Amino acid sequence: MLTVAGYVEKSLAQIQDLEVDVPQVIDHLRIGGEVIQRELVTQCIFHQETGSPNLEINTVTGLWHCWVCGEKGNLPRLVMRVLGAGYREALELIQDYSSAPDIATIRTRNLAELEAILRPVEHKFKSIDISQYMTRRSWWWTNSIPYGTFSKQTVLDYSLGFDGSRQRAIIPISVGGKWVGTIARAVRSNQQPRYKYPENFDRRHVVYGLDTVPSSSHRSVIVEGAKDCLRLREYGCASAVAALGTSLSNEQCALIADRFDECIVFTDNDAPGHLAAFKMCSDLAECVSRVFVVQWRVARKDPNELSRSVVRRMLANRIHWSAMIEPDYDPYATVRRS
Ligand SMILES: [Zn+2]
Repeated sequence: MLTVAGYVEKSLAQIQDLEVDVPQVIDHLRIGGEVIQRELVTQCIFHQETGSPNLEINTVTGLWHCWVCGEKGNLPRLVMRVLGAGYREALELIQDYSSAPDIATIRTRNLAELEAILRPVEHKFKSIDISQYMTRRSWWWTNSIPYGTFSKQTVLDYSLGFDGSRQRAIIPISVGGKWVGTIARAVRSNQQPRYKYPENFDRRHVVYGLDTVPSSSHRSVIVEGAKDCLRLREYGCASAVAALGTSLSNEQCALIADRFDECIVFTDNDAPGHLAAFKMCSDLAECVSRVFVVQWRVARKDPNELSRSVVRRMLANRIHWSAMIEPDYDPYATVRRS
C-alpha cells in the first residue's frame, strides 16, 4: 500500500487544499541565490556555472529552467537531481514542507467520516439563477488567459459568465441538470482568493463537468480546476471532470465510481499537484477498477497551459498509478534533452 507519510488514511471530512512551502524545499537543497520577483536566480548546478547565474527556480510553482544548458523541470525532478533521490523520496521530502494533514487532523476527520457513514444524508443543492452573469460574458473571449481564450462555443456551451460588481469571471456549476453554484475566479493577480465559492456551498458533493460527460463514456480524466476541465473539453476530451481542488472527498470518489470504470488523474505540475496525484489515485483505486496517472515532462504549470498535441501525448503516455509507489520509479528517466 501507499506509504508516503500522511497519505495512508483515506479521510476527507472536509476539503483541504494542499500547499507546499517551495522556498523551504529549495533551502533544504542548499540552493542559494537572489530572488527577483518570484524567481530564485542562481548559478546552474547542472552545467557547473561559475559566472553570472542562469538557473531560475520559480518559488511558487517549483518549476525551473536554465537559460544556458536548457535543463528544466518541476520540483520533484529538482530534488531528485540535487540529492540523487528517487521520485518517491523526493515527494516525501516535499511533503515534509507541505500542509498535508497531521495525525490529529486525520483522526478528527476519521471520526467525522464515521459519523457520516452512520448517519448518511442525501445532499440537496438549492437551484440558483445565473442570468445576472450572462450580460458581460464577452469578457471570456476578449481577455487573454494563458494559452489563449476559450472559444465562443465553449463560453456558450458551459454558460460562462462575468460578475461586473465583483470583477470576477463566473463558471457556473450544474448538478443533476440544474445550476447549483458558481466558481468566481479572480481576473487580476492581486485578487484574493483566486477562487470564490458561494457561502455554505459544499464542494465535497460536486465533480465539475460530471453532468455533461457523454453517457457512452466510461473513462474519465480528472483534473484539479474547472478551467483545466474546459481546456481539455475544447481539445475533444469530453469526459474531463474537475475535483475543484487538490483532493477528492469520499462523496466525490463515490460519484466518480458510480459513473466510470477507468480514471486518468491529471493534476497540476506544481508541488501540491504531485502530492495530489498520489492521494487522488490511492483514493480512487479503492473504488474504481482502473486508475492511471499522467506524467509531467514539460515545464508547464497546469493542463490549461498545454497545447492540444501535448495533452494528447500525455494522456496516451499515462501509466498505471501503482508504478508511482515503486521505490525505483523515475518519471523522468526517459526524458530526452532538447
Ligand atoms: Zn545550466
